[in-house]
Amino acid sequence: MQRIVLASSNRGKLAEFNKLLADSHFEVIPQAELGVEDAEETGLTFVENALLKARHAARVTGLPALADDSGLCVMHLHGAPGLYSARYSGGHGDVPANNARLLRELDGVPSEQRGAFFICVLALLWHAEDPAPLIAEGRWHGRVLDAPRGERGFGYDPLFLPHGQSSSAAELEPDVKNRLSHRGQAMAKLHARIAELHT
Ligand code: IMP
Repeated sequence: MQRIVLASSNRGKLAEFNKLLADSHFEVIPQAELGVEDAEETGLTFVENALLKARHAARVTGLPALADDSGLCVMHLHGAPGLYSARYSGGHGDVPANNARLLRELDGVPSEQRGAFFICVLALLWHAEDPAPLIAEGRWHGRVLDAPRGERGFGYDPLFLPHGQSSSAAELEPDVKNRLSHRGQAMAKLHARIAELHT
């Protein structure tokens, strides 16, 4: 088993990573268990922030580090909440306020103009100075509902209707969400990249 530190403190994400990595040869340790505080997300893109988070966790722990930076981009809002998805309403991680703001911003916007996608960028660094990180991206397209539906998942899931589904992301079974989602897609690509290294 290869121990790696997971550079995230988001409980919803941790649960999904545990499932996604259950069959891998990685033992994933959340950064909080190793005393790592959240890195400052000062990048201007998801990929920059994923790298900042992974590098910070690798530097503090001396272990390989996996980080994810993710968010929701709404076309009508020119990509917002985007990088600021976790703090759209001001306070970090205030899900009810973030979701309420998203509904407010889209008030009166018809469903065909409510297109959006979740994006997830994963960055895996073998050590803090690794100049060749493995990077994988996934996007999950859909639209923003005009009222929340469902109790599962986290964050904006109750407001997101994925393309081709009649259930919101918060109504999907966790395994189904993991298979379809931006994070599931990025993880599948990362697995493939890691497998290439071993061939
Ligand atoms: P990060 O921790 O900076 O990557 O913030 C990501 C934020 O994007 C989360 O706090 C959620 O608000 C949102 N987000 C990312 N992935 C998902 C998802 O799978 N479902 C719902 N919201 C998500």
